Amino acid sequence: MTTRSTELLRVVHRSPGVTRADAARLVGIGTGTATELVAKLSRAALLIQGPAAPSGTRGRPTTVLLPHPEGPLVVAVAITHEIWRAEVVELGGAAHTALQGRHAGAAWPEVRSAVRGAIEELRVRYGGRLRAAGISAPGTVSRDRRLDAVGPGWHDADLTALWPEAEVLVAGNDATLAATAESRRGAAVDAAVALHLRIEAGLGGAVVEDGRPVIGARGAAGEFGHMPFGDPSVRCPCGARGCWGVAVDGHELARLLGDPTPVDTLSYARRVITSAAELLAGAPATPAAPAVAAVHAVAAPVPPAVAAVRAVAANLGRGIAGLVNGLDADLVTLGGLGADLLATVPEEIHAAYRDGLMSIHRDAPPPIRPAALGDGGPIAGAAEEAWAALLPRLA
Ligand SMILES: [Zn+2]
Repeated sequence: MTTRSTELLRVVHRSPGVTRADAARLVGIGTGTATELVAKLSRAALLIQGPAAPSGTRGRPTTVLLPHPEGPLVVAVAITHEIWRAEVVELGGAAHTALQGRHAGAAWPEVRSAVRGAIEELRVRYGGRLRAAGISAPGTVSRDRRLDAVGPGWHDADLTALWPEAEVLVAGNDATLAATAESRRGAAVDAAVALHLRIEAGLGGAVVEDGRPVIGARGAAGEFGHMPFGDPSVRCPCGARGCWGVAVDGHELARLLGDPTPVDTLSYARRVITSAAELLAGAPATPAAPAVAAVHAVAAPVPPAVAAVRAVAANLGRGIAGLVNGLDADLVTLGGLGADLLATVPEEIHAAYRDGLMSIHRDAPPPIRPAALGDGGPIAGAAEEAWAALLPRLA
């Protein structure tokens, strides 16, 4: 088929339920051509036409374009430090079936055979409809789809072994895919240059320009946590001093609270941020004290958890300013602990952010928003990349 068919499928993938008239306009074709293309794509079991919801007042009844119920599918897989999950995703992004398992730090061959088994099970269930795979992995993914994940100790793992006969298999780093998903379907759809940052066990992210992530020459871009925006007296597990990542996560919270470095910095940080949020929510409003008493009033001490969370939030805001200055991003999205901090102490993040911005950005600072897709970002990004690679082969 033609490029226009691919464009039409791409429009339906982006906006399932789009009217045929709108789709024609977005592809830049006339209504007659659109009718012909839609008929062709329906015969190929790629699309169906459905009646639009009644709009009430004017015009002829219109039709909307939807994925074909027997159409092609992709499998999106997210592998994290603890679990793997496989979802079957149709054109338009809706997920059908999910399989999931826990591996908790197992060696790579064990994880590989579990995921491979899940994909085989889905291939049996969906047959030839399953056409492509997208894999999200918790580490560096090279252009030839090899994974290095320092945490679980997986080195040079061949991700193509998850489905060796696949017609299309794409793979990427989890934070990069989360960034891609935010730009295609999440909080950053309207951004020209979006910066996504995700704080979990470390800080990663990606810059997405016009919908495409910058992945780097070896697939290792986005290690923003190891930029020296932190305290130069603090050494990071990576070996460097002053890394930003350990200034915005459980490492810094533990250091400020005088606790030993926790084994699981992520759950430690979640606990501290939750307790700070509870303290802030429960803080009684300052009573309207008589004027004479105000002279002697002493400010109530700030609870240590709140002070620590505020300090970490300021470290986060300052670093974001540095990245916005360097990249000229027009939107910043925060995932993981970043979203928790933004919900709990937004003033501290924004104050440090504004202070660190160049004056050219300060009149209209690029907004900082929570990621819309949350923990589902990486698997949604894997599905998006699988669909992006598959669409040109369909039409
Ligand atoms: Zn580091």
